[in-house]
Order: sequence, then C-alpha cells, then structure tokens
Amino acid sequence: MVKPVVAIVGRPNVGKSTIFNRVVGERISIVEDVPGVTRDRIYSSGEWLNQVFNIIDTGGIEVGDEPFLAQIRYQAEIAIDEADVIIFMTNSREGVTAADEEVAKLLFRSKKPVVLAVNKVDNPEMREAIYDFYSLGFGEPYPISGSHGLGLGDLLDAVIEHFPKKGNDDDDDDKIKFSLIGRPNVGKSSLVNALLGEERVIVSDIAGTTRDAIDTELKYNNKEYVIIDTAGMRKKGKVYETTEKYSVLRALKAIERSDVVLVVINAEEGIIEQDKKIAGYAHEAGRAVVIVVNKWDAVEKDEKTMKEFEQKIRDHFLFLDYAPIVFLSAITKKRIHTLIPMIELASENHSLRVETNVLNDVIMDAVAMNPAPTDKGKRLRIYYVTQVGVKPPTFVVFVNEPEIMHFSYERFLENRIRAAFGFEGTPIRLLTRARK
Ligand code: GDP
Ligand code: GDP
Repeated sequence: MVKPVVAIVGRPNVGKSTIFNRVVGERISIVEDVPGVTRDRIYSSGEWLNQVFNIIDTGGIEVGDEPFLAQIRYQAEIAIDEADVIIFMTNSREGVTAADEEVAKLLFRSKKPVVLAVNKVDNPEMREAIYDFYSLGFGEPYPISGSHGLGLGDLLDAVIEHFPKKGNDDDDDDKIKFSLIGRPNVGKSSLVNALLGEERVIVSDIAGTTRDAIDTELKYNNKEYVIIDTAGMRKKGKVYETTEKYSVLRALKAIERSDVVLVVINAEEGIIEQDKKIAGYAHEAGRAVVIVVNKWDAVEKDEKTMKEFEQKIRDHFLFLDYAPIVFLSAITKKRIHTLIPMIELASENHSLRVETNVLNDVIMDAVAMNPAPTDKGKRLRIYYVTQVGVKPPTFVVFVNEPEIMHFSYERFLENRIRAAFGFEGTPIRLLTRARK
C-alpha cells in the first residue's frame, strides 16, 4: 500500500523541477477551493509502467538563508532521509563540478540506491558529454533532456528497478491508522500523550516499522489502532526539520499512510492558510478527516462560542463539510474520551459499502425531485449508480452523455447520498461514465 518515494537531488539549475513536472504531469485539482495544494509543489505522485510512486523535488526546499553548499547538502540529507531511490541530477553543459562531487560523497555514504541523470542532453551528438560523469561513482549515467522529454523512460526504468520488493509484511491492514496533522505547537504531541494515558487505551508496543518512522500501536474497545508518526511529533534534531516545506512534506507522507487524518487546530490562534493546505491534501488523497480543536480550555467562552467557532471552521473548510469537529483539551483532558470513538466512526464510514438497490432508489428519488440538467437541448439521463470502491467510498454514475453532467448536479447527488447513508467523516467520490 505504501508508495515508494523517489527524490531528485542536484545543484540549482540542472533541471530538477523541469523533470519533476514532467514525471508528475498535469493533474487538475478536484477541489477548486483548496488554495495552493497543487501549485508550487515539491511532492506529488507519478506513475511508470503501472508502478505508482511519490516524488520529491528537494530543490524546492530552502533552508533559511544558508550558503549555497549548505543548502544542497541539506537537500541531499532530506533525500537520504525520505526516499527509497534517489535521482542525482547533473548538467551535461557544465560537466562535473565541485558541488556535484560534494553531493556524491553524501549520497555514497548513505548506501541508498542512486540513479545518476545527466540533463540537457538535447540531441544525440551531445551524448559524448556523459562519460565524464562515470567519475562520480554511481555507474552508468543516464542522458536525459528535460526540455525535450528525452531519455526519461530509460531513467525511470532504472529507478523502479530499485523499488523495495513488495513483501507480505503488511499485516496492518485491519488496524485503523491515523495521524495528527497541524502546525507546530497546536498540541499534537500533547494529544498523543493524552490519548495514550486514557484509561481504556492499551498501548501494545512502540514499534519502529517502515523506514525511520516511529508508529505507536494501541487498542481501544478491542479494536487496534496505529498512530502514524509525523515530523512535528518527533524530537527535532536536524536543521531542515524546522522549515515549513519539510514539515509539510512529512505531513503529506503521514497522510499517505493514514486511513483517518486528524486536522489539529489551536483554538487560541484560529485557522491559518497552512491548516487549509494540509487539510486540502487529506481531502484530495481521499482520507477520512476529523477536525480537532485543541486548547479549548484556554478560550474564554460563553454559550455561543462553540457554535461561532464551528461556523468559522465551516467557512474556512468548505470542502470538509463532512468532517466532524471535536472540541477538546489535551492538557485538562476534557472530552479526550470522545476522540477515539470519532476516529472509529470516520474509519467505518471510510470503508462503508451500501447496497446497490437502495442506492439506486435514493438516486432515482433525487432525480425525480430535481431533474438532471440539460445542455443544447439534450437532457442528462441517469441509468444507474453503483459503488465501485471504498477508502474513500467511490460511486460510478452511468449516464447517456457524461459531458452534460454538471459539477453542481454531482454535488446535489452527493448530498442526497449523504442524506441517506451518512458517510460522516469521509469524502466520497462520484465518477460519471457513459453507459456502453
Ligand atoms: P532546477 O533548479 O534544478 O529545478 O532547474 P530547472 O528545472 O528550474 O531548470 C533550470 C533551467 O534549465 C531552466 O531554464 C530550464 O528551462 C532549463 N532546462 C531544464 N531542462 C533542460 C534541458 O533538458 N535542456 C536544456 N537546454 N535546458 C533545460
Ligand atoms: P506540537 O508541536 O503540535 O506537538 O505541540 P505540543 O504538544 O508540543 O504542545 C505545544 C504547547 O501547547 C505546549 O506548551 C503544551 O503544553 C501546550 N498545549 C498542548 N495542548 C494544550 C491544551 O489543550 N491546552 C493548553 N492550554 N495548552 C496546551
């Protein structure tokens, strides 16, 4: 289930982001009201020969105003920490530079698999230039051209060769995996400690599972859970761990491994842009979401405060209208006991299947109530709907002409499905297909 991670490292201007964008391709965001999720990306997913993976452009992570060489050293360390395979990118036009040799040394010591790419080989005559790069010690250099899209296939072939072989060690599948995502200091670590200190929680063990992550396993009401570790919760040691881009990257990786994402907000500070970005990613990734308002003890309240805060959250997170909101305090432990049952509810809905005939009754009633749209004299006809998947629940709507389906009508159908079946805590997906 966990996708392999590929990181691109190299000096500025060798063409890292050009290659990143080529590999990722154009992906249109499915939620228009999530700001900045798909722009300015340094982390996204790609696919080659049916292998799906995540890719990081480490060049997009700037660590303070450190000098040039320190920057690329940090970027190389990030690649070593985060990736299964590293693409070490160089520039044929400039040959092997001192900075390349510096990066090579670090990568070499890490023992992570490295594929060496020589970019800007825009035509076959320029291939001569690659031989110098054998001196870096990573074997065969792959000539590529980011701007012309040449050589990428061979490069990616070499990259996926190094992916970890799929073992059958994924015995975690019946456990509910969740992560706590939010800015530094919102209280994520305090919340984890409060959860683990709860009377009915049995902490089974603290196991270093995949890679460097420290996940915590626990039992509650005879159900097993895993808390996925994120950067904000680890002891911060390395310089780059304090940068925003890096903490977002870690959060995205944690979201990827989670069934349920707890978006933690500090009640004292309210909601900021970064909260929305991360929550938007959880939504796009199709994870169940619970919004947790922590430090509720520190807020002066009257009988309207909670309603007002809730409204503020709804206004900011329009795309998360399905996410339940929990107000609590990690310090006083007030309402802490409501959290795990909420995670369980969201998780159950995340993998809920509904019966096809009941589903179709709901949809046909909806259509009778609010007829499907027309376009250029043609009316959309809905034949039937079927659930094709879970995590998140995914439905295919079979119609005469998919082009006539309108976003707002899809939204209406989704609302009718929610009204009938709930699905609290989980996004649902509606796909429109022509009936063959
Ligand atoms: P980064 O700093 O490593 O991310 O490099 P960029 O992707 O921003 O590219 C730096 C410059 O090199 C840009 O002007 C690109 O258009 C150019 N560039 C990237 N790939 C190639 C290539 O294959 N051939 C040539 N001639 N130029 C390229
Ligand atoms: P993290 O960076 O998100 O893991 O946040 P921490 O768990 O380290 O908490 C940051 C600070 O907020 C610490 O000083 C905590 O004592 C404080 N804090 C955490 N939860 C609460 C809470 O529910 N109420 C109050 N008043 N303070 C809290």
